[in-house]
Amino acid sequence: MIVHKFGGTSVGSAERFRSVADIIQRHYQENPDRGLIVVVSAMSGVTNDLVRGARLAAEGQDSTCREIKARLLQRHLDVVENLLQQRPGRLEVAGLIEDRLHDLERLYRSIAVLGELTVRGSDTVASFGETLSSHILAALLQEHGLRAQALSSSELLVTDDCFGQANPLLERTRERLQQWVRPLVEGGVIPVITGFVGATAQGITTTLGRGGSDYSAAIIGAALRAEEVWIWSDVDGILTADPNIVPQARVLGELSYGEAANLAYYGADVLHPKSIRPVIANGIPLRILNSFNPDHPGTLIVEKPHPERERLPAILSTTGLSMIVLGSQDDSWALAQAARALQRLNEANLDVLMFSQSLSEHNLNLIVREQDQAHSLKVLRREFDHPLYQLEARERVATISIVGVPGWNETGAVAHAFAAVGRQGTRVIAVAQAATEDNVSFCIPEEQLADTVRFLHRELGVEA
Ligand code: ASP
Ligand code: MG
Repeated sequence: MIVHKFGGTSVGSAERFRSVADIIQRHYQENPDRGLIVVVSAMSGVTNDLVRGARLAAEGQDSTCREIKARLLQRHLDVVENLLQQRPGRLEVAGLIEDRLHDLERLYRSIAVLGELTVRGSDTVASFGETLSSHILAALLQEHGLRAQALSSSELLVTDDCFGQANPLLERTRERLQQWVRPLVEGGVIPVITGFVGATAQGITTTLGRGGSDYSAAIIGAALRAEEVWIWSDVDGILTADPNIVPQARVLGELSYGEAANLAYYGADVLHPKSIRPVIANGIPLRILNSFNPDHPGTLIVEKPHPERERLPAILSTTGLSMIVLGSQDDSWALAQAARALQRLNEANLDVLMFSQSLSEHNLNLIVREQDQAHSLKVLRREFDHPLYQLEARERVATISIVGVPGWNETGAVAHAFAAVGRQGTRVIAVAQAATEDNVSFCIPEEQLADTVRFLHRELGVEA
């Protein structure tokens, strides 16, 4: 059995859905008895829109919130219209989309009445995108003559109640998957399961954290002891740099579980960092593949990579970040305030990607995603509501991490990276270095990112 997971860009448009259906059909026909499970993300950008709508609802911004819902409705209906040729299937899926988005509107209204968005409410809202995409894909596969069935993971993936970052309860999840999914697969049906979403034992919807569909696929693969888990995204695997910045970037052909987890942790966003955990225990290989270039072999992640494989460092970059500075005008700023700030952001389910605390400057620098900036400022303003405190969003920043695999760093490449950043004249805002000395991360102004990444890629000899 192979678990195939398709991310948001792989199902970002009618045309993309078509390519995914072709990939699934080809794999199914090549080996119909092997067993195939599909895990799917929401269409790209949809989860962001859903959550933004919920935040606006809590602020009473009714009309913007209705616009978001209307746009989501239109986008999904357009895809269905364009994609599904057979009228009954098309009408059924269109009806389902309308119903779900009607539910969404009701949910937004109740959030508006409460005037507050809880993490639990946010999870319910965020789960809608995967429901829609899974039904669209299942209907399309049916048109291709395959026996596909959309399944909601809120019935399958049992989690604790850590809303926003729920943890799977593996035994109960395994029982449900064995009971409901295995017989389908063995009967030749292709289950199309919603990624990212789960539910508590009481049935309350949870999510596994942003980007969590990879994690869902790994959990499902481990629970059913799949042969392999294949993560389909929009690049050729885990690369030595972002190919949009460095066209010569190279694919890391084989990695160990530990190396891949490290790369994912530092921002190789083709793989959610938690996805390695479930597959390690059962030694299940993971592949990272490109749905835009399905014949490329991609990256293979296994327990023991081939000893002769090439060892290259990767330069991982994250853009679209914003730096928020919080501090006090006098010298009263202390670690306790910093701790409070981080805690409030965490409670509001806002990720802080990097922070630096300078006691001598009486402030805390926080790096958050641009789309979370307004909400982060609001949460902090509420907590630090005194003229003594200063709070502002400073600039758009990016992070660069240089991550090595064991065996590449004999030449002191981290020191080399520091020197290269200096030579390139990059303004470094913050640095974080791992104790192992084969990883280092820099926070820099976003406009210097591309030049710095290209320079480092050359300087570290990755293009050799
Ligand atoms: N749709 C979810 C997100 O945008 C999960 C995923 O794409 O993996 O975070
Ligand atoms: Mg992803």
